[in-house]
Amino acid sequence: MYPIDVTITKIVRESPSTKTFFFDRSFEEALPGQFVMVWVRGTDEIPMTLSYKNAVTVQKVGDATAKMFELREGDHLGIRGPFGKGFTLPGPDERILIVAGGVGAAAIVMLAEYALSKDASVTTILGARNVGEMLFVYRLTPCKGLHLTTDDGSAHRCGFVTDVLVEIDSSAFDRIYICGPEMMMKCVFGILEKQGSLEKAEFSLHRYFKCGIGVCGACCMDSEGLRVCKDGPVFNGMQLIGSEFGKYMRGPGGNKKLF
Ligand SMILES: Cc1cc2nc3c(=O)[nH]c(=O)nc-3n(C[C@H](O)[C@H](O)[C@H](O)COP(=O)(O)OP(=O)(O)OC[C@H]3O[C@@H](n4cnc5c(N)ncnc54)[C@H](O)[C@@H]3O)c2cc1C
Repeated sequence: MYPIDVTITKIVRESPSTKTFFFDRSFEEALPGQFVMVWVRGTDEIPMTLSYKNAVTVQKVGDATAKMFELREGDHLGIRGPFGKGFTLPGPDERILIVAGGVGAAAIVMLAEYALSKDASVTTILGARNVGEMLFVYRLTPCKGLHLTTDDGSAHRCGFVTDVLVEIDSSAFDRIYICGPEMMMKCVFGILEKQGSLEKAEFSLHRYFKCGIGVCGACCMDSEGLRVCKDGPVFNGMQLIGSEFGKYMRGPGGNKKLF
């Protein structure tokens, strides 16, 4: 698939490290949790989850994301996708729990809005380094329960999302969705495993990959060889048992990077 050329129509600064880029093409077929490959011409092509049907929300971490931050309205990007396995959609009247941290909120907010539109009962635990980095609170306000945490205590509850999670009975939910830094997700995994709730949990993984379509092998995970781009990026908790999840990931040269 060749990239589709899109024009940036609007840029919203969500936080000091994050911007949302809206474009003139809406990917109506995209399911919550699916991603697109964003071609930043002259720099790189990188995976991003759609935070709206026509937008990605980007945290500046390296070359390609820094280049995106220099772009203006009217500039162009190339988009391939949507790709990958998204979240299992919740049914009407289901009780769902969302646990999101940092830019992981961008990957999960469309799912929350879908669930709310189906009258599911949505409880969200949302964490960030500090209050300025907390994303999309305004889109999550309609949730039945919204628990906010900041690492530095600059607002809301001081602590991690897991501090709230241990106080919640996860068995009361039909589905649990998680996206955030991998160490955060690993801690959530441990709590849900202890509570016997892994089977109904889905984790969205952010790993380095090149092709996005299951060919290059850059994102294969030990020990089963599951490809994050094709078999994921959303995985059921049971699929991650005994895998490299939370232990290490591979960088561009295939070298292991320990968490
Ligand atoms: C399915 C998927 C969805 C994603 N969705 C979003 C999103 O919605 N918003 C967002 O801001 N980011 C998202 N990411 C992460 C994003 O792809 C990386 O931050 C981006 O590729 C970094 O590119 P760079 O050139 O700016 O940084 P680089 O210079 O390549 O790297 C900077 C740092 O980020 C790490 N890194 C690089 N690529 C990835 C990656 N793919 N996953 C995790 N860490 C990486 C590197 O190890 C390094 O430490 C997603 C990743 C995946 C796999």
